Amino acid sequence: MIEFRSVTKTYPDGTVAVADFDLVVPPHRTTVLVGSSGSGKTTLLRMINRMVEPTSGSIEIDGTPVGERDPVKLRRSIGYVLQNGGLLPHQKVIDNVTTVLRLEGTPKTRARDRAHEVLDVVGLDRALAERYPSQLSGGQQQRVGVARALAADPNILLMDEPFGAVDPIVRAELQTETIRLQQELNKTVVFVTHDIDEAFLLGDQVVILSAGAQVAQVGSPSEIVENPASDFVASFIGVERGRRALRPKSTARGTVLVDSAGRTQGVLVEGSQ
Ligand code: ADP
Ligand code: MG
Repeated sequence: MIEFRSVTKTYPDGTVAVADFDLVVPPHRTTVLVGSSGSGKTTLLRMINRMVEPTSGSIEIDGTPVGERDPVKLRRSIGYVLQNGGLLPHQKVIDNVTTVLRLEGTPKTRARDRAHEVLDVVGLDRALAERYPSQLSGGQQQRVGVARALAADPNILLMDEPFGAVDPIVRAELQTETIRLQQELNKTVVFVTHDIDEAFLLGDQVVILSAGAQVAQVGSPSEIVENPASDFVASFIGVERGRRALRPKSTARGTVLVDSAGRTQGVLVEGSQ
C-alpha cells in the first residue's frame, strides 16, 4: 500500500504543484491519476520514488516513509515507465532492459535470461533484444520500456502517460496488453494520464485531479460515471457534452455497457456463473 499524507510540493520558483494531497493507493490494483496538463500528476508520481522531494507531508510504502529509505535502492525497487519509453538510444534493447539488474550486480547470463523472460511477458520477440531502440516501432519501444520496468520484479509500477506518444490503434493495443499484464502480475500500479477514457479503461481506482493536484473525486469508474461529485467532474468526464454515450451497468450476469437510452451495447466484465 502507498499512502500520501498531507503532501505539498512547492518548486523553488514558487509554483505549488501539489497542495495538501491525501490518497491511499491499494495494493495489487491499478490506481489512475487523471487530470489536465500541469495538474501535478508527474510531481505526485516522482515523489513516490523520491525523484522529487515533497516540501511537506510524507509518502509511506507499507507503513515506512519513503524519506527514510535510501533513494537509490528505493528507485531500483520501483518500476518506472515514461512516455517515450525513456530508452537509452545507444544501447541495445537487451542492455536497456537489464540496466537495473546489472546495477544490482546480477550475473550477466542471469540478467540476460531474465531480459528474455520479460520480453516474453510484454509480448515481444526475443530476437528484438539485439536491436537498438531506433530500429523498433513506437509501440515496441513502449513495450521495451515496460519490460525494463518489470525486469527487477518490483511490487510497484509507476507509469507516466506511457502511451501518449503512439497512434490510437497501437495505443488501444497497449492498453489491452496492460490489462492482461496486470491480471497476470498483480502489481500495485500507479498510472498517470490526461485521457479520461484511458483512466476508466485501466483504473480500479480513478483519481480525478484539478490544478495543484486537488482531488476532485476518487472512486471506481462506475462510481464516478454514475455519480460525479461536482460540475467539474461531470464536465471532465464529458457528461455535459454528451461525449460519454456509454456507461457501465451492473446486472446479475456481470457488468454491461448501456447507451444513454439504456440499451445494452456490450459486456464489460463477464459474469462468473
Ligand atoms: P502534470 O504531470 O500533471 O502535467 P506536473 O507535475 O509536471 O504536472 O507539473 C505541475 C506544475 O508544476 C506545473 O505548473 C508545472 O509547470 C510545475 N512544475 C513541474 N516541474 C517543475 C519544476 N521542476 N520547476 C518548477 N515548476 C515545475
Ligand atoms: Mg506529467
